[in-house]
Formats: sequence, structure tokens, C-alpha cells
Amino acid sequence: AVPAPAMAAGAMAARVPPDEDEDECLPQYRHLLSPDLLAGQVAFITGGGSGIGFRIAEIFMRHGCRTVIASRNLQRVSEASKKLVAATGQQCLPLSMDVRQPQTIVAAVDEALKEFKRIDILINGAAGNFLCPASALSFNAFKTVIDIDTMGTFNTSKVLFEKYFRDHGGVIVNITATLSYRGQALQVHAGAAKAAIDAMTRHLAVEWGPNNIRVNSLAPGPITGTEGFRRLGGRFAEKSDQFSMIPLQRAGNKTEIAHSTLYLASPISSYVTGTTLVVDGGSWLTSPNSFSALLDVWAAGANQ
Ligand code: NAP
Repeated sequence: AVPAPAMAAGAMAARVPPDEDEDECLPQYRHLLSPDLLAGQVAFITGGGSGIGFRIAEIFMRHGCRTVIASRNLQRVSEASKKLVAATGQQCLPLSMDVRQPQTIVAAVDEALKEFKRIDILINGAAGNFLCPASALSFNAFKTVIDIDTMGTFNTSKVLFEKYFRDHGGVIVNITATLSYRGQALQVHAGAAKAAIDAMTRHLAVEWGPNNIRVNSLAPGPITGTEGFRRLGGRFAEKSDQFSMIPLQRAGNKTEIAHSTLYLASPISSYVTGTTLVVDGGSWLTSPNSFSALLDVWAAGANQ
């Protein structure tokens, strides 16, 4: 039977894990899985100082994992690390690194291995994005997004493979997006970059499977409390009631993305490789892909 809307809303609220809008740790956390699910393991998380990457670091640490969080801005990752350690009691090493510059990745991975002696999980979360119609997108802007998202994911995966995973096995989760599935308007740069990563996921899963390395993608939908949501018209969608188009009738939150990433990174998914897990409440199947509405958001400078 189809539940009445009020009942459906009540049941849904009870099941959505809480989240904080800013880059702060959760004041309380109720474990749905064993707190030692990742005990003894080390995760290397690019983009771990903010947004989705920050919450992935927190949830992993709450499951016994030590983390390395790496991005360009050392102050950002250092402050994030202090919060993560205070909330979880686990170790977190903040490192400065640019995924476009392989030598900085090599230095960061060397530093991480010196500190922890192992790396079990790589989360490729670093990315850059903005709304822009293709006609207004400079050649350089397109290239920059490919450089950070696609090249950055390849560079970091290759360094981890050579430095540790080739001989010890490992798990890679690439954070991608659903943008290319329907050719999302004003997103040719990010959609193309993330589609290439999903292809890389399959190629590397095949080539590196014999080394006991699993490689998967996780494609989030609209996620509240993130830079992406603030800049890419999430608020606009909220105001214009576009979330009623999403099968689950709402945006997702960072804790939900972190939980699904935990699944892909942990032994619960030990036979899962080369696939993309879409975590979007069914959004890409039904949400409008309105060129003119998005052009209005862009023109109003919502992405400035
Ligand atoms: P965010 O907070 O802006 O995270 C991006 C992170 O990447 C930042 O911590 C940034 O740190 C780092 N970064 C950027 N360029 C870098 C570089 N060259 N080298 C190293 N690190 C770099 O964004 P978010 O919204 O949470 O997104 C996280 C991931 O989820 C991204 O892959 C994004 O595409 C994906 N995603 C998000 C949504 C959403 O609704 N938010 C939806 C679909 C997919 P620094 O500035 O310190 O380098």
C-alpha cells in the first residue's frame, strides 16, 4: 500500500542521520555499524578538509580509522584535523598537496607512510566546480576542472599504487557525480571530468584487481551543507521546490554520503569493484534539467 504523505514524512525523518551544515563534527553520533569496522586501518582522503570529504574523515574515524586529509590549503586541513581529533579521539594527519602536481602527492604519501606505516583506503574527493554555460566557459576553465578532477584522481591513484597498494592491496573510492547521465545544463566541464573518472574506475578495477585492489565510484546527488550545494543552485532548488521532484523528496546530507562511502571502503563490500554507487535519493531519474532556470541562477551570480 502507498503510505499517506504525513506517515511517509514521519518515517523518513526517523531514518535520516543528522548532519551539521558547516564544516563541524557531529555533536552526537549513533553507530549503525560496528565502531571498530575500520579499526587499525588508515585512509588517505583528498579534499578531506571541507564538505563531504570532512564528513567522510569523521565517520571513518568514528569507525576506528586513522586518516590523512590532504588539500592545497594547509591551514584549512590543519583546523579540520583538530576538530576531527577532538570529536573522535583518533589520529588525523593534515597535509598540503595539489592533486595537479604529482611531486606534491609523492611527498604527501611519503609523509603519511612515515607516520602510519600503511595506507589501506584512498578517497579521491578533491574537485573544483562552478555553473557556466559552455559558450561562456573559457578554454582554460574547462582544462582546470579536468586537471583537478580527472588528472588529480589519476595522479593520486597512481602514486598510491606505486608507493603501497601494488604490494599490499587497497581500496579506492572516487567521488564523482551524476551530471553526465543526462547532460546536465551548465555543467559540461564537471560532467565530462566525472564521466572520465567513472571510466577510470572500471579500467583500474580491471587492471588492479589481481593486486587485491578494489576501485569504485560514488556519485552523490545534491548534498546540503557543502560548497557545491551553496554555489551550484541548491538553495535555488530548495526555494523553488524542485526537491519535490526527487523520489525521496529532499536533498541528501553529508553523513549519508559518508555512510555510503564507508560501505564501499569497508570489508562489507569486499566483492564490489568497478562499479558506481549513485547516492542521490533517485534524483537523476526525475529532476528537471532546466537550461533557462539554471541560466537565471548563473546570471544572478549564485556561483560567484
Ligand atoms: P568542497 O568542500 O569544495 O571540496 C573540495 C575539496 O577539494 C576542498 O577541500 C579543496 O581544498 C580540495 N581541492 C580543490 N582543488 C584541489 C587541488 N588542486 N588539490 C588538492 N585538493 C584540492 O566540495 P564538496 O561539495 O564537499 O564536494 C566534495 C566532492 O563531492 C567533490 O568531488 C564533488 O565534485 C563531489 N560532489 C558534490 C556534490 C554536492 O552536492 N556538494 C554533488 C555531487 C558530487 P583546498 O581548497 O584546500 O585545496
